[in-house]
Amino acid sequence: MKTLVLLGATGSIGTSTLDIVRRHPGLYRISAIAGGTDAAGLAAIAREFRVDFAAVADPSRGPELKERLAGSGIACGVGEAAVIEAALHPADLVVGAIVGTAGVRPTYAAVAAGRRVALANKECLVCAGEEFMRRARETGSEVLPLDSEHNAIFQAMGRHTAEDVVRMTLTASGGPFRTWSAERIASATRDEALAHPNWSMGAKVTIDSASLMNKGLELIEAHHLFSIPAERLDVLVHPQSIVHGLVSFADGSVTAGMAVPDMRVPIAHCLAFPERVASGAKPLDLATIGALEFAAPDLVRFPALRLAMDAMRTGGIMPTVLNAANEAAVAAFLAGRSDFAAIPRTVETMLERFDRRNVKPSHLEDWLEVDAAVRREAVGLARVASPYAKN
Ligand code: NAD
Ligand code: MG
Repeated sequence: MKTLVLLGATGSIGTSTLDIVRRHPGLYRISAIAGGTDAAGLAAIAREFRVDFAAVADPSRGPELKERLAGSGIACGVGEAAVIEAALHPADLVVGAIVGTAGVRPTYAAVAAGRRVALANKECLVCAGEEFMRRARETGSEVLPLDSEHNAIFQAMGRHTAEDVVRMTLTASGGPFRTWSAERIASATRDEALAHPNWSMGAKVTIDSASLMNKGLELIEAHHLFSIPAERLDVLVHPQSIVHGLVSFADGSVTAGMAVPDMRVPIAHCLAFPERVASGAKPLDLATIGALEFAAPDLVRFPALRLAMDAMRTGGIMPTVLNAANEAAVAAFLAGRSDFAAIPRTVETMLERFDRRNVKPSHLEDWLEVDAAVRREAVGLARVASPYAKN
């Protein structure tokens, strides 16, 4: 029996994780869960899985969580400290599936405690990747990639290390705007951006997939996870989302990780690692799919990917700035306060502004301070009135 902590239990990754746990009642037990605001959802999960501890980050939802868990014997907590407490609950594996920079401190706490972590929260590695992986090496915390592309690459790597790899390739579906003109993309509505062709995910990562910023964040994620230099990383657009990642070796061999586009596949891989369990995903039927297509990404129509590649190559605080500006701009877009084109524009402006500042973070809180500074400035920029934005 493996004990799990599930951070971000009420989200898309959280829900898929619970689906796998339900399929294997004898294999997994959940000791603690955490979420942002959905107290009712957290209480239902806590009762169904008989967890020991449930945490809600939003202080205003504390009383509701407490009331819903009354008489259950399940302890609960409120605020970021409680989310960190959940992260530190005894467990064989912590699933890090909080969205955005909100996930950094709790996931880092699990890493600092030497826990094995299945990492979905890519923003952790984009915001503070150097420090996050440094701490993991120091404590012996094993970070298993849960993001589908990284999970595929992890499996395709086999026993090899980054030195053996000449090229590491992440695929991108291309998102809903793959064939759209730059003008049409600039004025895309919220609903158009949220209509992903292949994956069903939370709102933030869905918008990032439409701008291709998601792939940029994932390049930076791979750079830290696999200690692979930026020059050896690239992206291939693959609309069918069957091949998720490829690894090329010196002898010309290329190994690829393939699966149907269903996040339960990489989640099940992380839960069972190094064994295997059924995930509930449909088997891959290549005869029915027939053809797999690949193309180079268009960095002109998708400037967010270009900005992320530049930030990765420059390193330092640039990825942190990119991530924070993007998160603020996506929130503004989702709230109907700005147009789609404001996302890369805000990111580019913030990268230019912060490039001139001489900041060298050495602790986690230094990285988070950069994140907060960018966010404060970006909010004003992203809030442009737009004839296209709607609620
Ligand atoms: P989501 O929006 O569906 O869920 C986010 C979860 O985080 C929710 O449970 C929410 O309550 C919780 N949360 C938000 N703020 C919090 C806070 N301050 N403290 C604690 N919990 C908080 O998002 P998602 O799609 O499940 O994505 C989660 C992460 O996984 C993201 O970093 C995303 O990039 C990554 N990811 C998602 C997918 C996917 O298919 N959904 C695929 C790969 C990677
Ligand atoms: Mg991914």
